Amino acid sequence: MGESERPLRGSSSPRGGPGAARGSVRPEPLHAGVVWKLSGREAYTESCSMGPVRMPPPRYQNGDTVMGRWPGSNLFYEVKVLSYDAQELLYTVIYKDGTELELSEQDIKNATGFRQRSRSRSRSPSRRRSRSRSPGRTPRRSSSRTAAAVATANMTESAPPTSSSAAPTSSSASRRSERVKEVLEVRLTPVQVTRTEEKNGSNHEKSEHNDTNQKAEPKAEPEKSQSRYNLRRRKDDPAVEPAPPEEEPEEKQTEAPPPACSPPLDFGGRIGAYLWLLFLPSWVLFVVLQVNLEDPSLTNFPPPLPPLEAFWDPQALVLVLLWVLFQALLYLLPVGKLSEGMPLRSGERLKYRTNGFFAIVVSGVAVAAAVHQGVDLSYIHSHFLQLAAASFLLSLLLSVYLYARSRHAPTPERALGGNSGSLMYDFFKGRELNPRIGTFDLKFFCEMRPGLIGWCVINASLAVAEMRLQGLSCPSPAMLLVNAFQLLYVVDGLWNEEAILTTMDLMHDGFGFMLAFGDLVWVPFTYSLQAYYLVEHPHGLAPPALLAILTLKLLGFYIFRQSNSQKNSFRRNPANASLANMKSIPTATGKSLLVSGWWGVVRHPNYLGDLIMALAWSLPCGFGHLLPWYYMIYFVILLVHRDARDTSDCRRKYGSAWDDYCRAVPYRIIPGVY
Ligand code: NDP
Repeated sequence: MGESERPLRGSSSPRGGPGAARGSVRPEPLHAGVVWKLSGREAYTESCSMGPVRMPPPRYQNGDTVMGRWPGSNLFYEVKVLSYDAQELLYTVIYKDGTELELSEQDIKNATGFRQRSRSRSRSPSRRRSRSRSPGRTPRRSSSRTAAAVATANMTESAPPTSSSAAPTSSSASRRSERVKEVLEVRLTPVQVTRTEEKNGSNHEKSEHNDTNQKAEPKAEPEKSQSRYNLRRRKDDPAVEPAPPEEEPEEKQTEAPPPACSPPLDFGGRIGAYLWLLFLPSWVLFVVLQVNLEDPSLTNFPPPLPPLEAFWDPQALVLVLLWVLFQALLYLLPVGKLSEGMPLRSGERLKYRTNGFFAIVVSGVAVAAAVHQGVDLSYIHSHFLQLAAASFLLSLLLSVYLYARSRHAPTPERALGGNSGSLMYDFFKGRELNPRIGTFDLKFFCEMRPGLIGWCVINASLAVAEMRLQGLSCPSPAMLLVNAFQLLYVVDGLWNEEAILTTMDLMHDGFGFMLAFGDLVWVPFTYSLQAYYLVEHPHGLAPPALLAILTLKLLGFYIFRQSNSQKNSFRRNPANASLANMKSIPTATGKSLLVSGWWGVVRHPNYLGDLIMALAWSLPCGFGHLLPWYYMIYFVILLVHRDARDTSDCRRKYGSAWDDYCRAVPYRIIPGVY
């Protein structure tokens, strides 16, 4: 049973009793190598310790204007309640500067009552000092807007027992108790900083170091610059020891309701999910049947369906399974680097075996050896439909498995999207963020290995088929270009495999049918359509055209690689020396946004490079038919939609900082155009 759904212990628990939770501060000293993690008070423990799951009704309603604690401080600012997550007992609130945070009920106060008290304390020097850091006020420096800065600056006031606020010297007992009550509502627990975290500097303080506004300042005190905050309840805190299982009441686990603060549904919502589930496999079938026609125009009426038996070939299924198992074996080999993913909502960082380049080299050698032994590679061409059907079956079974296991996944391990409560939508979009069997990461594996490397093998088989069908001694120049371009794309992706850990798919999207089908069917069987088209539709290329296409491809590749690497390096280590001249905009989450380099040209330079490359992949096929242009058309739609999805996610995450970024970099993908 996951930690978040585990029934909490009775009041005998040292951290469970109402008295224990309220007003208790752990007097642990700040010292180097330790960061302070702030957790909300254990209201949840109190309410749940009484017995099985009886959720209290929310005290505040959506739209209420209340006072919300600013992370890491005992300061409250006016906020508006956006939503309430009944399962997590967390309110999503928005501050006046657009920052959205999740707060527990104890971090929220009624605005009326609060104002009376705050007036009486308004003469406090510490309060006056802190007010300048209000998120609602215009900051003097852009960096002062970050929550990290605020949390850091307020750290000395809010909690450590050595601070004056935690041990007030006032002679008035009532004022003293009032103050202590105010201050002690945030509990501080130290979390060890891992060596890698320190080295990578991927936490927000380093991003602040990167902020040019801060460069002039001397180094901050180490303990301050390492602060990290989180107002989620303590039971999500991985640093907190879980309750001993023997004290937990036995309770049947029921599926958790969807969080009330899930982001809006993508892809047309619930109805859209049904349509996509039908459309995607039908579309693959349509293009695969089209490409075999003499006139493979996308505008053709769909060709008649072949009989059902034509889809089924046990040998094709065995081949697909063997291929996936072979790739899984390569992935599991203890060869290559272990890379760290981005911090999860729980603060944890997963490790990934990034040996993709090794996998494609070994796969290439294995395929070459098989061909040398007499295996006919053109089998893939002649059994394209059956192989696609077998892969579809596999992706479907995988999606069912993923959905079933996601029902037991603790809430913090679920993606923020894909928790709609609608079976079809969640099945389609995926719920669990990083489903793993032991250390085997299913999403990472499927994204990078069987489909991507399989695509290259399919392309190679199509080159062999072309030679055979057209009676050529070597593949045509157009086929060579398409093969070489797409091989470069895949090899580059696997060489820089670590970079995928900072992409949307890995960081934000759940793993469900959308990605499983995309990885195992869509990519290998539709991205290879240009090569497939050339098998039966030869197209000559004059040397100048060939040179122009090659130049275009290299230009696209350069933009794509540079921009992706820039962002990846920045996300991993904002203090990286190679990024020393880069400007960035700090955000309230602690992360910053690059606003110079490629990310200062357009908001998605990596999409721009990818689109230029897509153009270079279609051009070798000429303009005779629409089918080889299918990838280009599809990719424009995909990336425009992806950009829109990312924009709304980033606006939600970064609030006004994202708007600042959009003002500084007005174009999304194509400079001056879009
Ligand atoms: P990105 O790699 O652009 O990731 C978007 C994320 O980057 C945002 O959510 C945000 O995450 C972060 N970010 C956005 N702006 C900035 C900034 N200014 N500074 C720092 N971080 C920023 O998008 P994708 O994951 O969609 O694409 C990755 C690559 O994969 C692209 O090159 C794309 O073309 C390619 N791709 C290819 C596909 C194909 O089928 N061939 C399909 C999809 C993508 P946060 O702030 O949370 O870190």
